Amino acid sequence: MASYEAVIGLEVHAQLKTASKLFCSCPVGFGAQPNEHICEVCAGFPGALPRLNEKAVELAVRAGIALNCTVNGYSLFSRKNYFYPDLPDGFQTSQFEPPICEHGHLEVTVNGETTRVGITRIHLENDAGKCVHGQGVTLVDLNRAGTPLIEIVSEPDIRSAEEAAEYMRQVHAILVAIGTTDGNMEEGGLRCDANVSLREKGAEAFGTRTETKNLNSFRNVQRAIEYEIERQKSCLEDGEPILQETRLFDAVKQVTQAMRSKEDAHDYRYFPNPDLPPVIVPEKIIAAWRADMPELPAPRIARFIKQYGLNDDEARTLVAEKGAADYFESAVAKGGQPRRVAALMQSDFLRECAVAGIAPAEAAMAPDKLAELAALVDSGAISGRMAHEIFPELFSGGASPEALARERGLAQVSDAGELDRLVDEALTENPDEVAGYKSGKTKLLAFFVGQVMRKSKGKANPALVNNLLIKKLAE
Ligand code: ADP
Ligand code: MG
Ligand code: ZN
Repeated sequence: MASYEAVIGLEVHAQLKTASKLFCSCPVGFGAQPNEHICEVCAGFPGALPRLNEKAVELAVRAGIALNCTVNGYSLFSRKNYFYPDLPDGFQTSQFEPPICEHGHLEVTVNGETTRVGITRIHLENDAGKCVHGQGVTLVDLNRAGTPLIEIVSEPDIRSAEEAAEYMRQVHAILVAIGTTDGNMEEGGLRCDANVSLREKGAEAFGTRTETKNLNSFRNVQRAIEYEIERQKSCLEDGEPILQETRLFDAVKQVTQAMRSKEDAHDYRYFPNPDLPPVIVPEKIIAAWRADMPELPAPRIARFIKQYGLNDDEARTLVAEKGAADYFESAVAKGGQPRRVAALMQSDFLRECAVAGIAPAEAAMAPDKLAELAALVDSGAISGRMAHEIFPELFSGGASPEALARERGLAQVSDAGELDRLVDEALTENPDEVAGYKSGKTKLLAFFVGQVMRKSKGKANPALVNNLLIKKLAE
């Protein structure tokens, strides 16, 4: 039996973070009453004229820069003609040739192996409205019609479902890091169509592909492609032809199902939209946007490893969510030991966020509280287990970590006489370190704190110990 290789190309749609729609000033948003945010342009009235949203152009160009594309200073909007009730224009306004960005790439690492995935093009287009089916009628809601999107089309360079999911994760992290999209996948802010075909190992020519539409989570991307690879494999093994078709993924049944036979590009009769002039972006402006790119995820991961001594896994987990990485850096800036902060974030903080369904920035627990907790664990004042126990209460914005730990029966030694004695002991027992500290090695303070904490069996109040040591060492 022949062995097969999967060939995969992804089309990712990202909703741009603009206040208004692509061709009119109606607001973009979620949760309004049906047809609350529409105008003549959204509703496709004859004679209504589109006007391009400049911010959308900027966000598309920034995405192109971050994805290593050539930015075209000249691009065109075309009409992509098809009929659907939620598309009152009778065409989607998209870009055909030339698109705003093309010839990019992204490096994707899975199990230590890095593949470069080509990015064919990025183009701007408007979203359609929505059909709402039920109770014997179908209603049309045009609030979403005209929402600005970019479509990022990859080359068929991906070879496994896992690689596809990782590509999607990276695109998500990059677009969120540069502020192009807020990346809310549940609300459809980032979704993906997966093109999958098989060919015999070693063959040059591609096989016939299917396209599975609207995958809205990393997990569904992976599952849908895994299913499709297996399905096509059994077709080929049974001598059945693969049909070029559009399929849908049923996330409950975990299968893809045929939706319609797939059109070719020429079926859409693309032609330049006569209502919109060419999009001209001067080189000077592109250069300015290029110059103020924020830090991208890959270099940020490398920096976290180098600057904070995190391991690869810790760095990746934090950077995968920009808000988590920002929170981490704030906690470290407030004095938290980086690896301890990272560990507490992974074991408790991010889990609490997930349970509460909130982003790190929305947590009631401020980064300095996490830094304080990290310091308490580091100094031995409280155990990791105690930290874990008091975490939910801290997370909901409760008292200070120290107060909470004490309340939970952590007998801390704050008695001045007792602490005085322990500190003196630690200093007399370590004359070399005392001399070292006095000659400028002030980092030795942590060593002394550790000694005192050990002597107190972790019960000394670390803040008091700290102050006492600084005072005595200055004498
Ligand atoms: P369309 O817009 O009609 O879906 P495109 O030519 O733009 O068609 O291709 C869409 C995607 O399909 C691209 O990501 C491309 O890499 C991928 N693709 C093209 N041919 C194949 C194939 N034989 N197998 C898998 N993916 C493919
Ligand atoms: Mg397609
Ligand atoms: Zn409108």
